[in-house]
Amino acid sequence: MKIICIGRNYINHIKELNNSIPKTPLFFLKPDTAIQPRNHPFFIPYYSENIQYEVELVIKINKSGKHIEERFAHKYYSEIGLGIDFTARDIQDECKEKGLPWEIAKGFDGSAQISHTFINKLDLDINNIIFSLNKNEKQVQLGNSSDMIFNFEQIISYLSKFYTLKIGDLIYTGTPAGVGKVIVGDQLNGFIGKKEMFKVLIR
Ligand code: MG
Repeated sequence: MKIICIGRNYINHIKELNNSIPKTPLFFLKPDTAIQPRNHPFFIPYYSENIQYEVELVIKINKSGKHIEERFAHKYYSEIGLGIDFTARDIQDECKEKGLPWEIAKGFDGSAQISHTFINKLDLDINNIIFSLNKNEKQVQLGNSSDMIFNFEQIISYLSKFYTLKIGDLIYTGTPAGVGKVIVGDQLNGFIGKKEMFKVLIR
């Protein structure tokens, strides 16, 4: 099982980090050990002074495929969950500056928070999914799938040019504006619409 993450997929988030708009989806991988075990707190890694949350819609692949055409891509996922792409922003900034890969800043243990439950896409208007993140009961991020630069089908089609997508693979589809730092004692709650998808404590 692999975890593929899309970066820079929402204009308002690209602006807040002063990045440029990509012409094709920008992506990176996390190892399966990045998955946060259920009901576990998130432990801040000792080597970072600036761990940030990025709430993201996550699609789960339900059919194996390679070179998937965009018009068929809807057949390769049926469920949507919510996750956090935890990022060591200080380390990532160093990597960007030096032109190094991001995995050290993005792939550490626990860096992939994922909801316990997924929602059948038929129960959602996939082009208008509202999702949000609260920190300590105050909303810090609010997104809508309609604001994605690359939609789910475009992402699946593009990624499948490089990787065989397999059942159970998770694709994090990018974060909207509002990313920020966590400190010990914070609590994060993620929502799709009004439905609470996960809760995580920072330790
Ligand atoms: Mg992200």
